Amino acid sequence: MSAVQQPSPEDVVATLTRQGVRGVTVGWVDNNGIVRSRTVPTAELPAVARRGVGITAAFAVFDSHDGITFAHEGLATPSGDVRLVPELGGAGGRGVTVLAGQPGLAWVDGRQLDPDGGTWPYCQRAVLERQVALAAEAGFEVRAGYEIEMVVAREGEEFLPAHRGPAYSANALRDVDEFVVRLLGDLEANGLGIGQLHAEYGGSQVEIALDATDPLTLADDQVLVRQTIHAAARAEGLRVSFAPVTTTDGAGNGWHLHTSLTRDGRNALTGDDEHGLSAVGRGYLAGLLRELPGLVAVTAPSTGSLLRRRPGYWAGAYGFWGVENREAALRLVPSSTLLGPDHTNVELKASDASANPYLALAVVIAAGLAGVRDGAELPAPVQEDVGTWDDAARAAAGIAPLATTHAEQRAHLLASPLVRDVLGDDLLGAFVACRDADAAWAADHTVDEVVSSLRWVY
Ligand code: GLU
Ligand code: MG
Repeated sequence: MSAVQQPSPEDVVATLTRQGVRGVTVGWVDNNGIVRSRTVPTAELPAVARRGVGITAAFAVFDSHDGITFAHEGLATPSGDVRLVPELGGAGGRGVTVLAGQPGLAWVDGRQLDPDGGTWPYCQRAVLERQVALAAEAGFEVRAGYEIEMVVAREGEEFLPAHRGPAYSANALRDVDEFVVRLLGDLEANGLGIGQLHAEYGGSQVEIALDATDPLTLADDQVLVRQTIHAAARAEGLRVSFAPVTTTDGAGNGWHLHTSLTRDGRNALTGDDEHGLSAVGRGYLAGLLRELPGLVAVTAPSTGSLLRRRPGYWAGAYGFWGVENREAALRLVPSSTLLGPDHTNVELKASDASANPYLALAVVIAAGLAGVRDGAELPAPVQEDVGTWDDAARAAAGIAPLATTHAEQRAHLLASPLVRDVLGDDLLGAFVACRDADAAWAADHTVDEVVSSLRWVY
């Protein structure tokens, strides 16, 4: 798939040992957006790279509360083993990173294989690799970047905000100066580029924007950035919540996903048509738009995501697009004189940390490229806040709210042939079972309990 050579595990071990690395953590993201991991002694890495670490097949049906649901037919018993194999970089992605904030440890993302080394249909990384390969077959490279919103709190059982606002203010950020400086250093040392950092709108919120790169590297980076942020926070006596909603009131944490297509080294979305789009750009945006209900069931899938999806919070509550419209689920960020012609990208607002980033990127790429392939028709952009319109006006414009209940979201998930094709029947079945298990948990608890149960898990 890639011309990059797999580095020899023995060479990796020699380098890590020279740097004083004692253990390598192999991470992967489950169907709830939770990062799970196994840490192996550095010297074991060559053996682990060959045969993997054993993990239970049931990880595909873990729910957000560490329950295991056996409702999915393919994984209905406690039996079964999967091999978690570190992806050292040969097939794309980031490879091994020595963790600046966790001295003595390195990080690498893993792929899941069946015990004979064959494809494990529940491996989320493989799902994204397939879509990247299909994009390449269609003549495109995908570029993608994440905005990462988080709430920073003081360490402790109670929820104590670490800054007091006001929104976007230097004064707010000054409350967490030491964290900011440490984080900037650790991000750089871990090879993670960010465009900028600021105090966000919500209570005690901070945001960073991760640099755009290829999808596999971005998904790996999105995992590494969490590890980097959590470690920097811990060192400063802080805790960070990436949950879609941290408290029941106020702004949520969006992890907005920006994507664009490149062909022959140029941004293929940019063109001379209206809004600075090419025909490819129009098709890409239209493909995302028509697929939104099923798409967001993967990119913002959790019970927390449903709570975050409220009008007026710039969280993408309605299925429409606009040019630089921050209330739209899809915001076109056009090129401009200052930004240059290669800047055009589409931001998906209905995206958050409870998504598995490999699956999220996979469905986004597939939906956009299907729109390009079909020459899907793009309606006119909407520049207003459609939440201020009445139902009749929205219906006349063909704009519907995205799901806010499990039942609606589940129906959308199952009604999308594209999502089914991208995830495959097995993984889709497990994914739906996880959503059902979370919904059953939520039905037995108050909204406050749901919110606090998910606050620290991402
Ligand atoms: N916090 C908002 C969200 O839940 C987004 C605010 C913004 O546009 O940056 O997605
Ligand atoms: Mg933001």
